[in-house]
Amino acid sequence: MTTDQIVEEPCEVKISSTVLKTSRRGDRPAEFIKLAEDRKSITITDKIGIGKLKLKGTRDLNFYQPDQIKRVRLVKKADGYYVQFCISVDRKEVISPTKSTIGLDMGLNHFYTDSNGEQVENPRFYRQAEKSMKRSQRLVSRKVKVSSNRRKARVKLSKIHLKISRQRKDYAIKLARCVIQSNDLVAYEDLRVKNMVKNHCLAKSISDAGWYQFRVWLEYFGKVFGRATVAVNPAYTSQECSSCGVIVKKSLSTRTHVCQCGCVLDRDENAAINILNKGLSTVGHTGRSALDVGNASGEDTSIDVGESLCQ
Ligand SMILES: [Zn+2]
Repeated sequence: MTTDQIVEEPCEVKISSTVLKTSRRGDRPAEFIKLAEDRKSITITDKIGIGKLKLKGTRDLNFYQPDQIKRVRLVKKADGYYVQFCISVDRKEVISPTKSTIGLDMGLNHFYTDSNGEQVENPRFYRQAEKSMKRSQRLVSRKVKVSSNRRKARVKLSKIHLKISRQRKDYAIKLARCVIQSNDLVAYEDLRVKNMVKNHCLAKSISDAGWYQFRVWLEYFGKVFGRATVAVNPAYTSQECSSCGVIVKKSLSTRTHVCQCGCVLDRDENAAINILNKGLSTVGHTGRSALDVGNASGEDTSIDVGESLCQ
């Protein structure tokens, strides 16, 4: 068994405890946790004095041995407290090569456009989420500050956030698994998603967070199924002609790529082809196995998969 086969799998279990003050939340490395034999409770043995926490609904935990747990994180969510386990698993599924490769251009109008010209729409809950978040946000700001009505409105708002993030996660998992299973290599832009999520445009921030999750799951399934995932530098991917390489300047509103070489393509499809080509050239003709190039990328791929998958 090589380390290639080890992936970190997330597992989240609700706890009933309400004693988790802010200072007591956060990450705990494996040496400070003890999972009970029956998987019904966990004991935190660091000096803060949390002690034993009862776990609710531990069905998923039964698949794992206590020594597979790498760390836990105690978190508060709008609907209660959770322990997030980061579990190291030897999970490798062998599936046959598809001989297809794909480049993905993430967009606002569509979730992504791929290098074959296929477009995947944004899931409908993105629109719905935007509406209900705006409404709920307005309600919060209308209430008197430091009032219990405002607090109640805030709880409502954070429950909406929680629901959206669960839907987003669900969507990301399904789509990423499908893309990975149907392709030997998947290339996408190395967007600085962590920074992008801070932007103020609601529609954009929702999809940014969606791409971030999607990417994390692409890389996770890439490891599980032994497929190459390559994050490429996004520079010039939309300006360059995918056919002849000439730079064709276009503004954001120009939706079609028209080049003097005769190449006419949808703007996003052109970008997706460039992304694929960059991805293929990163992998190169070095004959490395797909796993060696898994997560090949420029700088800043410090996404901690274990943690991010839990969110
Ligand atoms: Zn051209």
